[in-house]
Amino acid sequence: MEIAEDRVVMFHYTLKDDSGEEIESSRSGEPLAYIHGKGNIIPGLEEALEGHTVGDQFDVELPPGDAYGKRDERLVQEVPRDIFEGVDEVEVGMQFRAESQAGEQMVTVTEVEGEEVTVDGNHPLAGETLHFDVEVTGVREATDEELDHGHPHAGGEHSH
Ligand code: ZN
Repeated sequence: MEIAEDRVVMFHYTLKDDSGEEIESSRSGEPLAYIHGKGNIIPGLEEALEGHTVGDQFDVELPPGDAYGKRDERLVQEVPRDIFEGVDEVEVGMQFRAESQAGEQMVTVTEVEGEEVTVDGNHPLAGETLHFDVEVTGVREATDEELDHGHPHAGGEHSH
């Protein structure tokens, strides 16, 4: 069975950045499952999976525009340290939810200098060319219930 719209797809992947460093991998656990054609995984990857069948292994290279987008330097801001209420130690690498005009977004602390904290609202992988090593491990028709919910149910069970 080929990967096509409204089918449940299971696949393993290893994600590397442009320098070949591994960012994450599904291979130590369960494969990722999603319903094809719903925009629930990054667009370039979903497009690359289309038409593949179980057992297929392939590499996908995605420029930023097909992955997490280009970096937007306007999302980098200096903020006063005292807006981090209740945080004892503000450190580089910490992530916070922040309200902005664009709605709620995740920001990452990229610099702390005295009372000035620099936060970056870009996705950590924005601006990166991503390399996926993909192996398709399952393809089946989605049930009506799964289509209704927009996500697969493991083993046909339903607990939510
Ligand atoms: Zn559900």
